[in-house]
Amino acid sequence: MGNTTDLLNMNTEQLNELYASLKERYAEFQNQNMKLDMSRGKPCPEQLELSKAMLDLVASSDSLRALDGSDCLNYGGVDGIPEAKDLFAQILGVSSSEVMIGGSSSLTMMHDTISRAMLHGVYGSQQPWGKLPTVKFICPSPGYDRHFAICELFNIEMIVVDMLHDGPDMDAVEALVSEDDSIKGIWCVPKYSNPDGITYSDQVVERLAEMTAKANDFRIFWDDAYTVHHLTDEPDHLSNILSACKEAGNPDRVFMFCSTSKITFPGAGVAAMAGSVANINYTRKQIAVQTIGPDKINQLRHIRFLKDLDHLSDHMAQHAAILKPKFDRVLSKLESELGERGIASWNKPNGGYFVSLNTLDGCATIAVKLAADAGVTLTAAGATFPYGRDPRDRNIRIAPSFPSVEELEKSIEVLSICIQLASIEKLLAER
Ligand code: PLP
Repeated sequence: MGNTTDLLNMNTEQLNELYASLKERYAEFQNQNMKLDMSRGKPCPEQLELSKAMLDLVASSDSLRALDGSDCLNYGGVDGIPEAKDLFAQILGVSSSEVMIGGSSSLTMMHDTISRAMLHGVYGSQQPWGKLPTVKFICPSPGYDRHFAICELFNIEMIVVDMLHDGPDMDAVEALVSEDDSIKGIWCVPKYSNPDGITYSDQVVERLAEMTAKANDFRIFWDDAYTVHHLTDEPDHLSNILSACKEAGNPDRVFMFCSTSKITFPGAGVAAMAGSVANINYTRKQIAVQTIGPDKINQLRHIRFLKDLDHLSDHMAQHAAILKPKFDRVLSKLESELGERGIASWNKPNGGYFVSLNTLDGCATIAVKLAADAGVTLTAAGATFPYGRDPRDRNIRIAPSFPSVEELEKSIEVLSICIQLASIEKLLAER
């Protein structure tokens, strides 16, 4: 005997009956005129409160000099103040000479790195990427929609590679990269990935560092956005990509990125990039044409507030104390609503900002639309794939951070109803 609550085991009459009762529940929610948003991974107001004290740490009466004696109010320090480089070097596991500090957004640094590569090439390029008839990037998917948007903007062709349980499908990546010199890069969110919450295994990191790339100026875009964003006391381990690249004899292969957007403020954080000294020197020269120096006061404020890795990790534990109950509620509600239905599966991440859910093939777009019509906004179906096209139309990204626990409870109930409605319609249509 199969599970009687599994939709796949139900006969047509049972499915019709369930459909009618779900429709009633759906109509009740529709009548409530709710407006709930689970679409973007934004910190909630309580999380922003955690860092408000930082704003008082730089006063006009203070010394506003950096460790090297430079005046943070004045021009200079194009790649950041030394103490900011030191902290980001520790966060990313590299040395200070391998780091550059930027403005408030790591996405800007990624965008600008690609923009410069298209116009001028990267360190070691024979010609600007943009001079080639086609430039391609490997996009492990599901992935981060804004990475894909950068590729679209620069007309970079995106090649989808599946995300497996421990990172991108490396057999596919190695085969592609070894044969095609127009493949210039790969997007990676290596820890608590957006949206799957996956952390790359040591083997995947090693293979990325070691693989043979036909393009000698191939780059890994290592977006370590969630590197200190744990939800449990037993954080995932990620091995160091820059060390692995050096050991493999490919020291210039990787650009690493991170920011304090989800440590302090998305609207007023500090971003950083890292790579080999050759990469950083090359990049610094180009950026020195664009600016005489970033906002060093904000860097100073961040260093005074976050201090060192120990303080940073205490601070992140306070974020986790706010976020964990939200993730737990989403997961327990999904389990109670859908756990035995046989029509959806989802990840249980140890960190990061998302729960990634897969429906039966062909059901995500309808479920997301039904949820929107009942007042629950989710990330658009398909957004987690290049060109907004999920080939199996099944991935839904849930962002639990911003809504309250009560709102999440309701939103997941609505979403679960919508997924069941879409699934029953599909199953009945197939009979
Ligand atoms: N990278 C990933 C994987 C993200 O999920 C996000 C935001 O959601 C960002 C980068 C944005 O980073 P920043 O605020 O530093 O531009």
